[in-house]
Amino acid sequence: MSRIYNFKENINEEELKNIANILKEGGIVVFPTETVYGIGADATNDKAVEKIFKAKGRPQDNPLIVHISNYDMLKSVAKNINNIEKKLMDKFWPGPLTIILKSNNKVADSVTAGLDTVGVRMPSNDIALKIIEASNRPIAAPSANVSGRPSGTKIEDIYSELKDRIDLFVDGGPTDIGIESTVVKVENNTAIILRPGKISLEDIQELGINAKLDKHIFADVKKNEKVESPGMKHRHYAPNTQTILIEYAEDKIMVDKVDKYINNNKNLNIAVVCFDEHAKYYQNKNIKIIKMGSIKDPLQISKNIFSILRYIDKLELDVCLIEGINKDHIGTAIENRLIRACEYNIL
Ligand code: AMP
Ligand code: MG
Repeated sequence: MSRIYNFKENINEEELKNIANILKEGGIVVFPTETVYGIGADATNDKAVEKIFKAKGRPQDNPLIVHISNYDMLKSVAKNINNIEKKLMDKFWPGPLTIILKSNNKVADSVTAGLDTVGVRMPSNDIALKIIEASNRPIAAPSANVSGRPSGTKIEDIYSELKDRIDLFVDGGPTDIGIESTVVKVENNTAIILRPGKISLEDIQELGINAKLDKHIFADVKKNEKVESPGMKHRHYAPNTQTILIEYAEDKIMVDKVDKYINNNKNLNIAVVCFDEHAKYYQNKNIKIIKMGSIKDPLQISKNIFSILRYIDKLELDVCLIEGINKDHIGTAIENRLIRACEYNIL
């Protein structure tokens, strides 16, 4: 059993020192960021980073994001930063944006999975920044979950899954954004979004930067197909329960699809995850209704979604239908997670 430090109200300086010492000595710590919880280790210590891969059961070819708290650390991990990358940092750091940069070869090989690039982020969460600063080294931190499972957005969701594999947990309450950082790579003066997040295509284009979504954001990777980001190949975010995505459309079209499914599968125990506004359509249909937030507040949905994906497994369902969302702004990121959570089963 691991200890949990409670930093929900305030950061305890003594405990902060202990966390920094654990990291300096090669331990691994679960801590909050503004996106999701991460499992952190000293990015320059191969053995420590190995512990993360082991704790998560993460495929070795999937590189980790390096978290920094200041620009000196950036210089130590990355080089040859161009004007567009600089502009992105100036605008969005500290914050939920990971930039794939030329590696300086200072982090452990396992962090970059042997690539000559490194993903770097300066988070804005105060606890995360203080932990990185106190440990005084770049911290590699993937999402806190066993590989393939939904990312952890509150300690209660992930403690039992990870408790014997982690040296210490830091509880900062539910994370603000709830889905992982936007991952972007600049190539030929274009910012390519490899993983969508709260910082959207539109936000980047607003800076006058050419930007586009990678073709795999909504499409599965074919066998032997080359990908820009190894993480695209792997199973992600999936509950154990079978889930099916209802493609976003006018209310009536979505509701008709759910109705038809229910009528054709009367012997199954079914739930629907839906917009608050749609709950009324599914009442009296003998299915469980799980509200994910208002259609007018996609940020709230992004905050709730991983916790809901974990909650589904507690209901002993045969199938869970999940309403999809409009694919713009942060909706791009939510839909990307949902398509993967449903393993490309779309109705
Ligand atoms: P996670 O650590 O679970 O938040 O996932 C990190 C994501 O960033 C994965 O999809 C990785 O494949 C991606 N990533 C990290 N480093 C790189 C890199 N150097 N090049 C491309 N993608 C990267
Ligand atoms: Mg992850």
